[in-house]
Amino acid sequence: MDNLHFESNVGVSSKLNWLRAAVLGAQDGVVSVSSIIVGVAGASDSRAFILTAGVAGLVAGALSMAAGEYVSVSTQRDTERALLEKERRELETQPEEELEELAHIYESKGLSRETALKVAEELTAHDAFAAHVEAELKIDQHELANPLHAGVASAGAFFVGAIIPLAIVMLAPAGYRIPVMLAAVFFVLIVTGFLSAYAGGANKFKAIARVLAGGTVAMVITFAAGKFLGGLGI
Ligand SMILES: [Zn+2]
Repeated sequence: MDNLHFESNVGVSSKLNWLRAAVLGAQDGVVSVSSIIVGVAGASDSRAFILTAGVAGLVAGALSMAAGEYVSVSTQRDTERALLEKERRELETQPEEELEELAHIYESKGLSRETALKVAEELTAHDAFAAHVEAELKIDQHELANPLHAGVASAGAFFVGAIIPLAIVMLAPAGYRIPVMLAAVFFVLIVTGFLSAYAGGANKFKAIARVLAGGTVAMVITFAAGKFLGGLGI
């Protein structure tokens, strides 16, 4: 998830990146919290225990997603700002080399020497900084990712995923809590697996199989841990 902001400089791919980040956050929420619920249910039948653990998992997970995304996007933005600053300085101190560099980029893309130099000269006359940022750094200087937005969005996506198993455990009758929750979790994983494959242009069947396998392994291991600890009677 951390390198997707580098690519997010075009409209469509940026929207798909957001969709992919949202889907991953929601999957994270649904798998973490349903695993916690299954784990506690392995040790205890108490709805109060199960709910307490689930809510704690939701809050902790959402905050940790927010903090992680905030830090990662901040670092990203600092790096991009530093690159922009360096480019600005180079344009001031060594305009000749920078013109040559720009011409070289267009030459390497297939233009003849004369055309590349002409393109570079015209772009430099128009807006040298914008031309270099676009051709060299491939950053959209007006659309640097916002750490706060990214953090809130990740926490929100996690929350949306996490609230599903929690709501089911709260509402479903005692005997059916876990089976109904598992059915809902698998349904959510199938839908989100499909969406993430769509966003990434990947094979949908493989993506769904992978996310179902991952979610199942997480829940089985947590359930086993809960059973084991419940059996110890701590
Ligand atoms: Zn340059």
